[in-house]
Amino acid sequence: MAVDAEPSRRWADPPVRYPDPAVRVLDERFARYRIVSAAVERLATGFRWVEGPVWFGDQHALVWSDVPSDVMWRWDEMSGEVSTFRSPSHFSNGNTRDRQGRLITCEHLERRVTRTEYDGSVAVLIDSFQNRRLNSPNDVITASDSAIWFSDPTYGIMYDYEGNRADPELPTAVYRVAPDSGTAAAVVTGLVQPNGLCFSPDERLLYVVDSGTSPGTIHVFDVDAATVSNGRIFADMSPGSSDGIRCDTDGNLWASAAGGGDGYDGVHIFAPDGTLIGQIELPERCANVTFGGRKRNRLFMAASQSIYSLYVNASGCA
Ligand code: MG
Repeated sequence: MAVDAEPSRRWADPPVRYPDPAVRVLDERFARYRIVSAAVERLATGFRWVEGPVWFGDQHALVWSDVPSDVMWRWDEMSGEVSTFRSPSHFSNGNTRDRQGRLITCEHLERRVTRTEYDGSVAVLIDSFQNRRLNSPNDVITASDSAIWFSDPTYGIMYDYEGNRADPELPTAVYRVAPDSGTAAAVVTGLVQPNGLCFSPDERLLYVVDSGTSPGTIHVFDVDAATVSNGRIFADMSPGSSDGIRCDTDGNLWASAAGGGDGYDGVHIFAPDGTLIGQIELPERCANVTFGGRKRNRLFMAASQSIYSLYVNASGCA
């Protein structure tokens, strides 16, 4: 009797049948953004707490922070390889690029925001306000006028795990650093732990996550140049919280989601009116997101120990 020389093929992982059930349409408005032949991909894993993903199109690379490991990593889009970008990273957290493409980084350990110049040297943009040390800059964005906006909660000084434990010298706040003078102003105060932030496509709205309330909330403010006013709650993240957020060019808000467990953790997508219209479920708590790829239509998600991506039919704001 003939026998098979090789054992039958076994699938290492169960295949994904398109459309990926991890991408959920909760409102018809989200249907156009889901690509039915695209699935969530895990690009890299084995980290401790990943944050601050930033896309470098000119390098075909994603860079991100592993905060407690004191390392920044780089994923190469061409080869798929992961290598060290910077170590030690001073327990870096949020990252972005300024209008000239230079890397802007929040550092927990040095309690500062830095700019990496083209030659690799690092310049300090700000480390104190009114002669008191910042708490631990968490997330950062650049406005079209080149002002740098960043949040300053206390997470990086609460434990030695993510920086150096210390008493806060300043209330938590969102700051704006003026492009010409470098002068800082506290533009949002009164939130418990201001965290992720982003502008609407026209920069008339500023979204700020408060991850210090239970449940977490996403606030929205009116912006007029350097002035912020009319704060109100945009979304209630019950039963968990958000952290990092990004807008697409249609004004939808893509918010990381953590703390709600299976079926909640991942990314929640809100229409400009605050309606939850879609969800990307991940098997880990998600801390931050960014759009990348040549068409800014690839969503990168920094989630606990892993980096994920998903192609979507939306484009991130530049
Ligand atoms: Mg954050």
